[in-house]
Amino acid sequence: MSISCPYCETDSVQSLAMAYQSGLSHVSSKSKGTGAGTSGGHALVFSQDSASSGISQTALSQRAAPPEKRSYLAIILLCAGLYLALGISGLLVSIFSETIGSWMKTGGLICLLSMPVPLFFAFRFSGTQYPALLTQWNRTFICLKCGGEFTP
Ligand SMILES: [Zn+2]
Repeated sequence: MSISCPYCETDSVQSLAMAYQSGLSHVSSKSKGTGAGTSGGHALVFSQDSASSGISQTALSQRAAPPEKRSYLAIILLCAGLYLALGISGLLVSIFSETIGSWMKTGGLICLLSMPVPLFFAFRFSGTQYPALLTQWNRTFICLKCGGEFTP
């Protein structure tokens, strides 16, 4: 049985997982350059080595990327960062205005104390919504002709 696109009826379709994987490639390149020139009457010779590596991804692969998990660390860092930023700038501001300074310090404390709220939602997302999104992603196909996404 072959799967075909429900929109344009072509059979050149690919699962999202396959499209994502096949569009990822590790890139590493090395280049060496040599040059010569003069500067202020002195002759200069220079050479440069450069190497770069990374992951290259096609546009199709980017589009077919799996659902992302919520990062607990990002939430913790954001809340702690806001606490520190507001706390420190609150201390500085309170030199000029005690009221505004203490409001800023209170705001920072609120950011820190409310950290469990986004963590709770991220935790709930990982436990219930994420597995469903991942299952859906694993079952979804993309049409290579019209770009339509469908679940056969
Ligand atoms: Zn199609």
